[in-house]
Amino acid sequence: MHLDEPHRHGEPLSRDGSLERLSSTRFDVIVVGGGINGAVSALSLSAHGLKVGLVEADDFASGTSQESSNMIWGGFKYLESYDIRLVAGLCRSRNRLAAAYPTRILETRFMAVLEQGASFAPWFAALGANVYWGLGRLRTIRPRHRSKSTIHRLEPAVATAGIRGGIEYSDYLLADNDSRFVSELVIDAERHGAVVANYVKLESAELGTGVWNLALRDRSTGSTFEASAQVLVNAAGPLVSNVGTLTESRTSSRLVFSKGVHLIVPQVTDSGRILAFFDDAERLFYVLPMGHRSVIGTTDTPVDDPEVTVTGADRSFLLEQVSQRLDLDRNLEASDVISERCGVRALVVPPGGSGRRRDWTELSRRHAVETDEGRRVVSILGGKLSDCLNVGAEVVDAVRLCGLRPMPPAQKWYGEPPEDEQRSALSRAAGLDVTSDVASVMWRRHGRRMDEVLDLLDGDADLGGPLGELDPLSRADVMVMGRHERILRPSDLLRRRTMFSMLHRPDTVAADKGVRDAIRMILGDEGLRAMDADPAPTDDLKA
Ligand SMILES: Cc1cc2nc3c(=O)[nH]c(=O)nc-3n(C[C@H](O)[C@H](O)[C@H](O)COP(=O)(O)OP(=O)(O)OC[C@H]3O[C@@H](n4cnc5c(N)ncnc54)[C@H](O)[C@@H]3O)c2cc1C
Repeated sequence: MHLDEPHRHGEPLSRDGSLERLSSTRFDVIVVGGGINGAVSALSLSAHGLKVGLVEADDFASGTSQESSNMIWGGFKYLESYDIRLVAGLCRSRNRLAAAYPTRILETRFMAVLEQGASFAPWFAALGANVYWGLGRLRTIRPRHRSKSTIHRLEPAVATAGIRGGIEYSDYLLADNDSRFVSELVIDAERHGAVVANYVKLESAELGTGVWNLALRDRSTGSTFEASAQVLVNAAGPLVSNVGTLTESRTSSRLVFSKGVHLIVPQVTDSGRILAFFDDAERLFYVLPMGHRSVIGTTDTPVDDPEVTVTGADRSFLLEQVSQRLDLDRNLEASDVISERCGVRALVVPPGGSGRRRDWTELSRRHAVETDEGRRVVSILGGKLSDCLNVGAEVVDAVRLCGLRPMPPAQKWYGEPPEDEQRSALSRAAGLDVTSDVASVMWRRHGRRMDEVLDLLDGDADLGGPLGELDPLSRADVMVMGRHERILRPSDLLRRRTMFSMLHRPDTVAADKGVRDAIRMILGDEGLRAMDADPAPTDDLKA
């Protein structure tokens, strides 16, 4: 069977079909950039009845949106500046997102550890956590003050000798990583009629009478083609000013960049909690769960250039900070690092703002959606995964200023499918002898597309067994992912649609039979050759 074949349920367009539609349709809006901001814009605009195209120069979420801490949070740290209204607003966005994606965004306990020299006494931090809980409308489990001995009992990996105690509170974590969340939004946008393509780069743009004519390059073949739209949404993340230059559009805010690094190491705690510490500079850093690994991060280094890589100094800093605060058999070393994540936070400096380093916590709160009505360009600056629903709503308002007429959607434009669909998929799975654990993961992974997986299992139950040793991904899962998920290169599957190359070393991934079968099924022998030639690609196709 060819994986690109249209199928009975959702009729996904083949890549060639999408490229053809991109060049033959007069769009209301073309969104440039397929990170969280581009994906949520395409979803929101298409759900509001507009004809939308989305082009992403590399893979969806291959920019900053694959380098986050995976947290969906309400801004606890901003309580330090007593900005109650801000935190209440962020908590509201967080709650809305978590309620809309109940299987993909999970409430997670944080254990924030306060050292002897900490700026806050544990009782004061506990008071703050209760205020945070209240501002979050008590949606999460109640926070608790934790004594030194309780922390020792609950989290034996924490070095308790130099601590005063701590607080335990809740926020949320993306169950399957940031980039998968983004690609699901892209698929949802497609379901609402958006035409989407990864590995298609905007190279130049010309505004005619009320219409943008765009030159796009298909980076998988090198060929160029044209597309047109009334309005452009510039969602190029840290590269927003490059696309601003191409389109000669202006924003009154500007960006500064802060580099953030995460290291993935063997599991430090299996409690499921996020450990939170203050580093030597009194900045919060975390030990986060990721599958059966732990993620340490992050750094916060001002940089001028958004292209960043992990340096030896970044590695040493994080390993040193964490080793000082954990009580492990031995200190973590560079050789323990299984994989790394590195990206820049794009921080918005408002008009007249200084962009000074000491103002960066303040800057990190904001995003800006700006409209250049004359040029018919909407630019999205900054932003967080946590705040994406607000960006989606603001972009709809912004294109209205450019003369478009979005219609109110018939249903809520975001969120997982309704509970009755989930119940019926899970009960169908039970009828096919799929265990409830496997079925829950299947639902989280595929949502509505789970029916296609079950159709395959109905025809041949053998398609349901795990393909390899590293992950319970089945042949049926892979077939459905291949149909819908726009996987064009090994790293699309291994780094962004799954977490294989975050959780395992490159050689282990490349040698796993299941991974090899999955790559062969989706990308053929050419895909296998590409993986073998470069088992740890850092950058697939950057210009
Ligand atoms: C270390 C770190 C930790 C973070 N942790 C969190 C967290 O826990 N929670 C949270 O909510 N947020 C977090 N963030 C912030 C969050 O990750 C970002 O705000 C968000 O991912 C930005 O998304 P974006 O869509 O604006 O940019 P990007 O994800 O960078 O997307 C922009 C896309 O535009 C594409 N593009 C650029 N030029 C072109 C062109 N000419 N043609 C076509 N496509 C183009 C790029 O290839 C890129 O994929 C973190 C950020 C960092 C760096």
